[in-house]
Amino acid sequence: MIKREFSRVKRQQADDLTDPYKTALEYKELSVCRRCRSIYHDKRWSIDEKLYKSLLKDAGKVNYTLCPACQKIQTGYVEGVVELEGDFLFKHKEDILNLINNTEKRANYIDPLEKIIKIDIDDQNEKIILTTTSENLAQRIGKNLEKAYKGSVEYSFSKEDRMARVYWVR
Ligand SMILES: [Zn+2]
Repeated sequence: MIKREFSRVKRQQADDLTDPYKTALEYKELSVCRRCRSIYHDKRWSIDEKLYKSLLKDAGKVNYTLCPACQKIQTGYVEGVVELEGDFLFKHKEDILNLINNTEKRANYIDPLEKIIKIDIDDQNEKIILTTTSENLAQRIGKNLEKAYKGSVEYSFSKEDRMARVYWVR
C-alpha cells in the first residue's frame, strides 16, 4: 500500500480559484505518474493499463513525473476534509472504511486526480478524519455514507482556503 503523508502547506489567496497543481506545470503528452501510474494523454490524466503496458515496451522513453494529485499528497495540499464521529461509526468501523475506500477507488478510476491523502483513526475519541485531494471526493464520501448508513451530514466550503469540509455523525 502507498504510504500517506500529511503536512500543511501555505494556501493561495482567496480570490484565485484555479488549482495551482493543475496549472503550475506543463505536462508532456504521455507522461506517466511514477506513484499512481496514471497517464497524461489528450490533456487529461487517466488510468489506462493497456496504454501503460504499451508505453513500457519502450521503457527508456517513458517520461516519469508526479501527477497533480500525487504532488498534493506529497506536499500535504488538502482540498477536502471529512470528519466522522459517533458510536455507530466505531461499531461499524470496518464496513465504513470499506465504503470510503471503495468510493475513492471508483472516483479514482474515473479521475485519477481524486485521491484520499490520509485517514486518521482516533480510537480514543471515536473519530475518523480523512483528507482528500479534491472537494468532490470529500463530498461524495459524505453522500455515500448518508445513503448507506443515514446519520446526519453537513457540508461546508471555504473559498479562503479552497477547502470542502464534510462532517458526518452517527
Ligand atoms: Zn499520481
